[in-house]
Amino acid sequence: MRQWSEPLKPTPIQYLGKCGSGQEIYIKREDLLGFSFGGNKCRIGFSFLRDMEKKKCNYLITYGRKESNLNRVLANMCRSANIPFTVVSPDAGEEKEASTFNSMLVGQMGGRYLSCGKTQVAEALEQVFCRAREEGFAPYYIYGDSRGLGNEAAAREAYHDAYGEIRLWEETHRLEFDSIFLASGTGMTQGGLLSGQTEAGGRERIVGISVARGQEAGEAGVRRYAGDARIPVCFVTDYICGGYGQYDEDVKRTIRMVMEDYGIPLDPVYTGKAYSGMLKWLKAHGSGGEKVLFIHTGGTPLYFDYLQSGKDGTN
Ligand SMILES: *Cc1c(COP(=O)(O)O)cnc(C)c1O
Repeated sequence: MRQWSEPLKPTPIQYLGKCGSGQEIYIKREDLLGFSFGGNKCRIGFSFLRDMEKKKCNYLITYGRKESNLNRVLANMCRSANIPFTVVSPDAGEEKEASTFNSMLVGQMGGRYLSCGKTQVAEALEQVFCRAREEGFAPYYIYGDSRGLGNEAAAREAYHDAYGEIRLWEETHRLEFDSIFLASGTGMTQGGLLSGQTEAGGRERIVGISVARGQEAGEAGVRRYAGDARIPVCFVTDYICGGYGQYDEDVKRTIRMVMEDYGIPLDPVYTGKAYSGMLKWLKAHGSGGEKVLFIHTGGTPLYFDYLQSGKDGTN
């Protein structure tokens, strides 16, 4: 199946209610995109696969840990469309690769896996490119060349289009959001949204809550994917909780509250951290009555990892 050839149906936007500091909170359910547990990586993955076909390639190369949401959806897409693929992963070194729901899913999709030291990525990629070519394939690396440059536009398109969905929703509901919040990592999602906003002349404040990166690297990532080196970026680093994958009691409380009140799963690495950060940011800087859209960027398998870990305090 090649689901990415069909235009995506807009994901729902729901009203959640007023938060403690008086803002009206809405949520865009990117987690409900209908392939492999959805999420922003589903939209971005579809965009990469469309780009791959446009470039007449037929072998996919991706990079990152097996646990990643991106590799889950890409591996699943390749499996479903019978496209051979290789996942190049950074060496876990001493640490054993964790067994997570994402890594188990990736493991069953039938691709090849190659791990390499963090400084040997370019060589490892060259090797995978060569092997695929020798086998008669035209390889496509999601990030572009072996240094990971050149494919920003394909990534950008996904959330450029999603911004268009938000605009259309605002028009049909005669309502304008004052701000949009999301978990921001590499900047593909926030950069795409900013690019769409620039084109449409939108005025919402788009706030990325950093899940790991510091100010400078974070902003640079967003600008890179927005395709505009000077675009103003709101990238908030106050709620990182010490680094990627780390979280505090507020994140845990938020995850529990959002599940209990609305039946919506968040995870501690991305969406729970961002939602919790958004509430704190609004308390400190928001104005009453402001209309706020939170983008649920997915990562549902991580919610189950979290539950199973027992760290939410329920078992
Ligand atoms: C990857 C990811 C993000 C961050 O998206 P970027 O485009 O890398 O900034 C946010 N939420 C979830 C669930 C993700 O998997």
